[in-house]
Amino acid sequence: MNILFVNPPQTVPVTERCLNIKFPLGLMYMADTLEKNGFTLKILDCPLHYRIRRSLNAQLDKIGLLPEQIKKTIEDFRPDIIGVSCAYSPYECDSFDIINYIKPLFRHIFIVVGGAHSSANPEYVLRNLNIDAVVIGEGEEVMLDIARRIRDHLSLNDTPGIALRTDNGVRVNERRGYIADLDTVKPAWHLLDMQQYFNHPYNANATMRCNTVDIVTSRGCPGHCVFCSIHTVWGRKWRARSPLNVVDEMEMLMTRYGARQIRIQDDNLTLDKRRIMAICDEIVKRKLDIRWDTPNGVAIGTLDKETLLKMKTSGCYRITFGIESGCKRIQRYIGKVLDLTRVNELMLCCHRVGMWVCATFIIGFPDETREEIRETENYILTCPVNFPFIYVAQPLKGTDLCHDFEKHNLKPAEFIETSSIMQTKYNTLHLTSTELNRIHSRLYKAFVVRKALSYLNPRKFYREMLSKIRSWEDVAYVLHMFLELLNFMIPATLVYRVGKIWKHGNRR
Ligand code: SF4
Repeated sequence: MNILFVNPPQTVPVTERCLNIKFPLGLMYMADTLEKNGFTLKILDCPLHYRIRRSLNAQLDKIGLLPEQIKKTIEDFRPDIIGVSCAYSPYECDSFDIINYIKPLFRHIFIVVGGAHSSANPEYVLRNLNIDAVVIGEGEEVMLDIARRIRDHLSLNDTPGIALRTDNGVRVNERRGYIADLDTVKPAWHLLDMQQYFNHPYNANATMRCNTVDIVTSRGCPGHCVFCSIHTVWGRKWRARSPLNVVDEMEMLMTRYGARQIRIQDDNLTLDKRRIMAICDEIVKRKLDIRWDTPNGVAIGTLDKETLLKMKTSGCYRITFGIESGCKRIQRYIGKVLDLTRVNELMLCCHRVGMWVCATFIIGFPDETREEIRETENYILTCPVNFPFIYVAQPLKGTDLCHDFEKHNLKPAEFIETSSIMQTKYNTLHLTSTELNRIHSRLYKAFVVRKALSYLNPRKFYREMLSKIRSWEDVAYVLHMFLELLNFMIPATLVYRVGKIWKHGNRR
């Protein structure tokens, strides 16, 4: 029995040159579980085909395989089930577009969707009559159950962890328990054309080395951040792979596929100090020449100098702190109250051990005032971060933030397709979307100018920049980041083109 997983082509603003590409880990984990149980799998990661780009309207383009190409794959592979990912609310239209194209052509194929958006919102998603079932929560065991029942011609009605349409309307079944031992599952790396990922121009976007892969070493988060929907899939209990299992995967990716850099996509990599220390020790013990970073933010509470030093020694060159706001009231609203003095000390500690420091910030919460955004701005401009990622809050399904946008009548029934964390279309109680976008873009410019000026101070320049440059690879990384920054601030420049040529010509 054949099962096809599809990561749909992605809608982007016309101004977006290319998509940041990530490995479709969720689909890969499910694929491996199914394959081990006798099913034949294929993964179609449509956005990977970045050269295929078509215009949807004056504002939006779609990147990835064309519908006819997807149809051809289905005709050739002849799947009995197609699983389509719908990770977050902004991607719903992309998932629906492809499902609405496929189902009328292949009525006999069972169509399932999964991801945070559909897990939080199964009844709503099932209003689309072309979808047969929704996987709620963690996918491996649920997909296996669905596949077995379809193969054995059994009813799906009482399958735990799914929602489906029955004669009596939409039925949402009880969730299935989470996988207790994450060492028992792994991603189906062999189903992907790794070279195609490595050749993607954004595979090594802002990274130290080319041939970057993504891994996940833990799932779930006990946090209750108002904007976060991750609990809808992986729950609130933190579960982690063992250090040996994690480092085995790293080593396999290096030796079998030539990976040289790893993005650890955990939401809470450092929650257990002993575990992160053991992972680092194991990397050092095996002498793995790898660079790794933590793009999603780390648990700040457990970090200290000892941990940071060990992380650096094992190849971690960049860390991301999830700070979100410089305003205490907004921190309380978000549900993540941080001692910013301690955060600053940790950033300085990162500089001392030689790690680059990024941090995430969010503005545009429903009742956030201009003055409160200014507090965040002041913090961003004065803290010792190397680069901030500043986003505008979006009402993703499954989050308390979405309820608050709805409560204040700031959100229409449907998610606004053209809205994004970089260019919002949502007003707040105190600011219009235009004002928010203006503040957002001004914040970035202000940061770059302030940082550049602050580096006229030699002590600061040494502490935040020079002290980290300890090899030719570090020099190359600084030049690379400088070009990326110019690319970010001055779009479509010659610098950008030179940078891309340099990156793909010289950094392999
Ligand atoms: S944003 Fe991070 S810390 Fe907050 S709930 Fe989500 S995963 Fe947890």
